[in-house]
Amino acid sequence: MQAAFDCIVVGAGFAGAVAARELAERGNWRVLVLERRDHIAGNAYDRLDSAGVLIHQYGPHIFHTGDKRVYDWLSRFTQWSDYQHRVVAEVYGQQMPVPFNLTSLSMAYGPERGAGLERKLLETYGPERKVTILELRQNSDPALAELADYIYEHIFLHYTMKQWDQSPEEIDPNTTARVPIFLSRDDRYFQDAYQGMPLEGYAPMFSRMLDHPNITVELGIDARDRLDLEGAQICLDGKPFSGHVIYTGAADELFDCRFGRLPYRTLEFQFETHPVEYYQSHATVNYTVSEPWTRITEFKRLTGQVLPDRTTIAKEISHAYTGAPGETPYYAIINQENNCLYGRYQALAGRHQSLHLLGRLAEYKYYNMDAIVAQSLALCDRLLFAT
Ligand code: FAD
Ligand code: UDP
Repeated sequence: MQAAFDCIVVGAGFAGAVAARELAERGNWRVLVLERRDHIAGNAYDRLDSAGVLIHQYGPHIFHTGDKRVYDWLSRFTQWSDYQHRVVAEVYGQQMPVPFNLTSLSMAYGPERGAGLERKLLETYGPERKVTILELRQNSDPALAELADYIYEHIFLHYTMKQWDQSPEEIDPNTTARVPIFLSRDDRYFQDAYQGMPLEGYAPMFSRMLDHPNITVELGIDARDRLDLEGAQICLDGKPFSGHVIYTGAADELFDCRFGRLPYRTLEFQFETHPVEYYQSHATVNYTVSEPWTRITEFKRLTGQVLPDRTTIAKEISHAYTGAPGETPYYAIINQENNCLYGRYQALAGRHQSLHLLGRLAEYKYYNMDAIVAQSLALCDRLLFAT
């Protein structure tokens, strides 16, 4: 008897949904998507809260990319608002643009001293350059070294300690490099060519992506209850499955954490609805010197939703992930030791040629949404060309 599906996709986030659509459409594969949660869209999921405000349940998601293939591909399923993300850091009552830029410099040092430092920075690094905090801290010029200390102390140190429980030197340098010092007056958080929010939200975009006659989505299903990876061949519901399996969950969970848990940071979101039109000046305010939370996001400022008398915000508080029920692993803690542990799980997965680890959890990487879409399309290219 012919199997009912050519491919099983575990997880209906960006990694899984993009792969499902691509294989169903371009390869005419019959795809079964198994999703543990009761909704699609993974961590990008958005919904109306009880006050009617469109919120991002798992934290603020702003789409941005320089990759035209990714942008064009997603644009088949949504239109975009032309939202440009801007963030300020709350520093002892002043709100400074983050990434720290020439405007922040002037706010921190006043126009006169700021102009002198600006000249020095531009002579040293050049205009419109991005310089990481760790790079700036290498500079031995006394004035620039003092500036580096200021930025380190007021923007990076406390935020990073709250987020990672480690200092900027201890974490993967690529992480702080995501928010470099920008020698510009462009105060946008991202400079990518394509940027915006899905006009009707992420969940409707995912619904359209997964709406294809070759795709079956089952929600509320933990794929580990249906798949067996122990034998030479993968089994689905107790029967050998000869198609491909794309797994986008955590790599350690797939193998019952047999070598120990992969370390992650999790987040607690404290949602609050306030009876005012707007709560704060920007969609995101980072608390870089005070408060237990790292940032507060006001969703209406992201989505452009118009509601004159109420608004919902979320405070983000970071904790160590323990694996307790209900906890979500959000950020992989990337270092040599953890990458090594990940490598052991990857090797287990590698025993099955038809099993593919894909996505932020399964690959144990710090990917933005666009990188996941690109990665998912690339895997589909390989699978479809190989058949
Ligand atoms: P996920 O979205 O996590 O999807 C994986 C899915 O698999 C989940 O739905 C999960 O329930 C399901 N699953 C797991 N295990 C199983 C199982 N055993 N059985 C069935 N289903 C399972 N990126 C940006 O580009 N811009 C942003 O502004 C941005 N903001 C972010 C803010 C926060 C707080 C976080 C944590 C991330 C942010 N990201 C952002 C990154 C973005 O969330 C990821 O790149 C993207 O969601 C990854 O997609 P994914 O499919 O790999 O993983
Ligand atoms: N960061 C910081 N202060 C800020 C913003 C970022 O110290 O005001 C550091 C912090 O270590 C953070 C990292 O830069 O984890 C990456 O920030 P980003 O905004 O990219 O994080 P994400 O939105 O992915 O949580």
